[in-house]
Amino acid sequence: MGCPLEIPYSSFKSDNERPSPVDALKLPADMYMLPDMALSEVHDWFILYGFCKCGYFRGVDIQKTRKKFSASSRTSELARFLHCKRCGRKGDNRFTFKQMLRD
Ligand SMILES: [Zn+2]
Repeated sequence: MGCPLEIPYSSFKSDNERPSPVDALKLPADMYMLPDMALSEVHDWFILYGFCKCGYFRGVDIQKTRKKFSASSRTSELARFLHCKRCGRKGDNRFTFKQMLRD
């Protein structure tokens, strides 16, 4: 039984206003969320990662991914195939990237 004076969270904010937990995740300082784009548009100097809301992330081989899927595949679609090796979650993970240091 909850306290009768409790005001439900939902009276302040609707569900739509709440960011998805994975989008609110704190990424490492040099890591960014990959925006939705065609696979062919992903730059070669991006190091891709699959990122799970449990905090686990793992490098994704972009060359292999390019061979496996068509160049017009959207990264938002491909992200649904990411499977977390730590918590087993699938379907709600994201691509993130770091930029390769070039000198
Ligand atoms: Zn996970």
